[in-house]
Amino acid sequence: MGLRFYNTLSRSIEPFTPAVPGRVSMYTCGPTIWNYAHIGNFRTFLFEDLLRRWLEARGLRVFHVMNLTDVDDRIIKEAGARGLPIREFTEPFARAFFEDRDFLRIRPAHAYPRATDFIAEMIRLVEGLLAKGVAYQGDDRSVYFAIQRFPAYGQLSQLDRRSLKAGASGRVSTDEYDKENAQDFVLWKAARPEDEAVAAAWDAPFGRGRPGWHLECSAMALALLAREGLGEVLDIHAGGVDLIFPHHEDEIAQSCAFTGASHFARVWLHGEFLNVRGTKMSKRFGNITTPRDLKADGVDAGALRLLMFQTHYRQKLDLTDEALAAAREGSRRLGEFDGRLRRATRRTAGTPNAWAEWAGRVAGDVSEALDDDLNAPRAIATLFDAVRDGNRLLDQGLPPGDGEVAEWVRALEVLDVLPSGGGGTTVSHGAGAAAEGAPSDTPPTEPEASENWARAWAAARLTAKGRRDFKEADRIRDLLKAAGWSVRDNKDGTVEVRRV
Ligand SMILES: [Zn+2]
Repeated sequence: MGLRFYNTLSRSIEPFTPAVPGRVSMYTCGPTIWNYAHIGNFRTFLFEDLLRRWLEARGLRVFHVMNLTDVDDRIIKEAGARGLPIREFTEPFARAFFEDRDFLRIRPAHAYPRATDFIAEMIRLVEGLLAKGVAYQGDDRSVYFAIQRFPAYGQLSQLDRRSLKAGASGRVSTDEYDKENAQDFVLWKAARPEDEAVAAAWDAPFGRGRPGWHLECSAMALALLAREGLGEVLDIHAGGVDLIFPHHEDEIAQSCAFTGASHFARVWLHGEFLNVRGTKMSKRFGNITTPRDLKADGVDAGALRLLMFQTHYRQKLDLTDEALAAAREGSRRLGEFDGRLRRATRRTAGTPNAWAEWAGRVAGDVSEALDDDLNAPRAIATLFDAVRDGNRLLDQGLPPGDGEVAEWVRALEVLDVLPSGGGGTTVSHGAGAAAEGAPSDTPPTEPEASENWARAWAAARLTAKGRRDFKEADRIRDLLKAAGWSVRDNKDGTVEVRRV
């Protein structure tokens, strides 16, 4: 049936085709770096990682942008309390976010624009909206978006136009507000002394101030789309369900009013909440859990990924100790089988039919499940069936061929749920550059980067061999050789690269 997603815009499952064949532009709302991002935030980022990896596995070239919000009410308050400029206050949290991302094996976005680096673009957007008459300056000198002048307002969150009219009498200058009170929202907040104190104010033709939260995503997405020559409409915009209103509704209003396009993103995907032991994570309940807390408790990234993906992204997920323990055991079982499979791989051609069938089922079922609105729980069930059936074949003394193992590796690569470091992990997992897609033909000069490059190519060669593309495998071997690397296949199915 092909790739399809549940589009929040239409509230239905739709086939997915990017506007530019073979390319996908994707924007995901990133963290506000005022604190450590919690595991609920990371559930969303992991769902987006799965989305990105599956698009790439389907052969699409993805351009992925994730913003870092480094100016907002909370940041200004916290930075003020510490007497630090916002840039200095947010920097450690940006670094921490990248560390947590790497711990959870989330593929890095192609760009992480920070709001304060795109002030000029935001000012241009506000000027454009003022010129079009959809924005106005309030008597408080702040600039607001007039939602009544944008007829499509409320489409994404399915706001009732009548209640909209009733509620739209006022305006709101805070970043978050509820759906029952849709009001004119702030684009640019006039500077206050507390903003000046933490270097959170910029000059603009319509007065000194700072951007509202919603404005940054529109400005940065449009700027980066233009830079890549990808037009003015995103293929995919994703985020947590809590962002549908007002954040995404406001992003659409600003962007479409500015560009004149009928869409800001053609497909909107939203991930559900994560609860901790039955309650929503909040400061009030004292149950905020971060990836670094879990890491310190010895929780492995493979187990966490498995736990997250065992529940569909549009279903609520409850994080409990039991669920974590079960995921750890599941990840361990998958890793154990992976090791056994690789050790048993035959080096000769020709495959018993049973393994060919097994591999076909793994590849086909995982692919079908992920095509179906990223049904990762079904894909994982397929993997566990494959473990059961594969172990039976191995018990019978039937060894799999390279090709069958490669199908297994490919199916696993998208979910990436094996235990870290142990089991049967090889160059194809977590090898830095290997996780970034196809490496370039020219090796980097820096030694460590060069080794990652060689490992990435070795992994690509293994995959090529797996699909019996020996011409490509040979080309990669020659390419590595020319760069001074030899590649050796080990008996246990792993690959070694060495400098010659
Ligand atoms: Zn956003």
